[in-house]
Amino acid sequence: MVILPPAIERKTVPPKQFDSKENRRRSIAAALQNLDLNQDQKARLEEALAQDLAELEQLGRQLSLCRRRTGLLEQVLENISEGIAVTDPQGCIEMVNTPFCGLTGLDREQLQGQYINLLNRHKEAEENFVLIFESLENDGCWGGEMSHQRSDGHQFHQWISVSRMDRDNGRLVWALRDISQIKSSEEQAAYLAYHDSLTGLPNRRLFNDRLEVAIATASRKKQRLALLFLDLDNFKNVNDGLGHAAGDELLQETARRLRGKVRDEDTVARLGGDEFIMLLVGIQEPEYAAVVAQRILDDLAKPFRLRGRQFYLSASVGITMFPDDGSKAEALVSNADMAMYRAKSAGRNNYKLFTPALNEKVQRRMSLETALRQAIGNQEFLVHYQPKVELAQGRVVGMEALVRWERPGHGLVSPGEFIPLAEDTGQIVAIGRWVLEQACRQAKTWHDQGHHDLAISVNLSPRQFQQKDLVPMVTETLGASGLDAASLELEVTESMVMSSVDDAIVTLGQLTDLGVRLSMDDFGKGYSNLYYLKHFPMDTLKIDRSFVRDVATRPDDASIVDTIINMSRSLGLKVIAEGVEDTDQLRFLRERACDQMQGFLFSRPLPSDQISQMLASGTRLH
Ligand code: C2E
Ligand code: MG
Ligand code: MG
Repeated sequence: MVILPPAIERKTVPPKQFDSKENRRRSIAAALQNLDLNQDQKARLEEALAQDLAELEQLGRQLSLCRRRTGLLEQVLENISEGIAVTDPQGCIEMVNTPFCGLTGLDREQLQGQYINLLNRHKEAEENFVLIFESLENDGCWGGEMSHQRSDGHQFHQWISVSRMDRDNGRLVWALRDISQIKSSEEQAAYLAYHDSLTGLPNRRLFNDRLEVAIATASRKKQRLALLFLDLDNFKNVNDGLGHAAGDELLQETARRLRGKVRDEDTVARLGGDEFIMLLVGIQEPEYAAVVAQRILDDLAKPFRLRGRQFYLSASVGITMFPDDGSKAEALVSNADMAMYRAKSAGRNNYKLFTPALNEKVQRRMSLETALRQAIGNQEFLVHYQPKVELAQGRVVGMEALVRWERPGHGLVSPGEFIPLAEDTGQIVAIGRWVLEQACRQAKTWHDQGHHDLAISVNLSPRQFQQKDLVPMVTETLGASGLDAASLELEVTESMVMSSVDDAIVTLGQLTDLGVRLSMDDFGKGYSNLYYLKHFPMDTLKIDRSFVRDVATRPDDASIVDTIINMSRSLGLKVIAEGVEDTDQLRFLRERACDQMQGFLFSRPLPSDQISQMLASGTRLH
């Protein structure tokens, strides 16, 4: 059944019943009998009437032919697979066929009078409709693909062709064909062209595409990429020993394990055989790639279960970095491959970075990390103390606790080397807690020995500062040591508190509520934001060593130190200069009435027993 638009309905001639030819002739003859006409007139009238009748009969035949054709067209419209809609030139639906209703999931009543774009109203489709109407305006037709949503939410792809009927007031005919199946087989074909059929991982082709895109993005964003080339070490044994089907299973399980060790945005691809390649995006340091490689090796080292048997596997991994080692995709893949061969020749079951220097750096850091992990348990840390001296009297008023690592076979490692690493790995939280415990206990011992007003300063790291349990941890440590909270000073840095100012204000407030004092370490090196300084409950500013170093020789450093001292005074804060090494610096600080100093001039950081001797002897600064 076709819904005809009102305009067409009006034009339709209502069906009319004609008499048979003979009846008509008879009724005309009867009518003529009743007319007062001569023979000639009658003959002419009869002829004219016969002519009209013939024309009428002709028209009748044409009309029935026309009706038969319309009926046929209706049937065609109903039986073709395309959904057809006729709209006015603006796209308002006037009629649709049944397949159109089937495709859209809407019935005629819902469709009629609606705009054709009711099928899809998302932004992209709206833009498409604008383009369609532009083409119709210019060319009178349009054809293309669009995805639509059926009323039940099912998404389907369709091919739409639209044409304008110029002879019919510019009405538009929209023909929709469901091409979802074609699309899905196209997608299937595309999937197979870009994926490895055994593991479902991207294949070399897709990997190369992604690598090109990643290189372009990383260059723009000035980021690093890492490529990890992995080759299984003893895969041949599985294939030869257990057969190819078992080998396939092993490759599938390997693929799963690899995928599980990288982030969603990274790519794991199978290049063929037992070779895999991984692309890690947006990474900061080569060390991260090494961490991932190690994680993968550890995971592959876990037993595989094949045909009821346990099987052990290892792999060799080559790592290359963009842009450090190269900027072209091909060169990077070949670098990673070469590095993988180096890992193989170095005994398998390990990873190697392409650049020897980078390799050495990463290996050093990784072994440092492993050693650091064991250091706490092995009690390899020590605390040294550096005196803080009050400038007016030259008296020792406090000690700063500075951690040291006695690494077996390496001597004393300075915090500058391992604190940043411990910060990255999170180990700083445990180390910092240990230092705090030691320092509080040591300070309590000195108090008990008679140095009652000696303060102890402990550095806090950014990670520690973010710990939810920082305040309870400090409370607990103070309680366990028996040290008075007022004797403890915590040193924080500007960057630490500025990363989340509101949280920092709360935490610092809770610490001062405990009675602990706060000092801003390395002041001047960071933001030096006075507005926030006013809101942080600080007791002391510690002038960064870099300004103190040249204070007696460089006027700009002198004026910075001068400014910090004056500012501290006006904010009611104490000020201390760190890194004082010579008497010129000391003189400058004394002249400016700086409160305290700390530095090699008076004492280097020393073990607690040496500090105890110093305190006992009453050493002073002159
Ligand atoms: P910091 O807190 O600014 O500590 C002062 C650093 O300056 C110490 O280095 C100290 O030995 C050094 N120093 C003191 N006087 C002088 C001097 O006159 N000249 C020179 N050139 N240096 C001087 P150290 O012990 O190597 O510590 C470096 C940094 O490591 C510390 O800087 C601190 O940020 C961090 N750190 C040390 N111990 C710990 C700790 O237990 N926890 C945390 N989170 N960080 C710590
Ligand atoms: Mg400090
Ligand atoms: Mg400092």
